[in-house]
Amino acid sequence: MKFEVIGSGGCVALPKPLCKCRVCEEARKKGRPYSRMGCSFFLHDIKYHYRT
Ligand SMILES: [Zn+2]
Repeated sequence: MKFEVIGSGGCVALPKPLCKCRVCEEARKKGRPYSRMGCSFFLHDIKYHYRT
């Protein structure tokens, strides 16, 4: 089985939609690596994308 970690920036995705806090504003303005996906994996065998 082959799987790939495609997101490991912590278990919270940033920026959160509609959130006005400083962290999310910065992520929205600067993009990566400030903005990031939550933990996610791609299972190649079944082409399944799992995102927490
Ligand atoms: Zn926020």
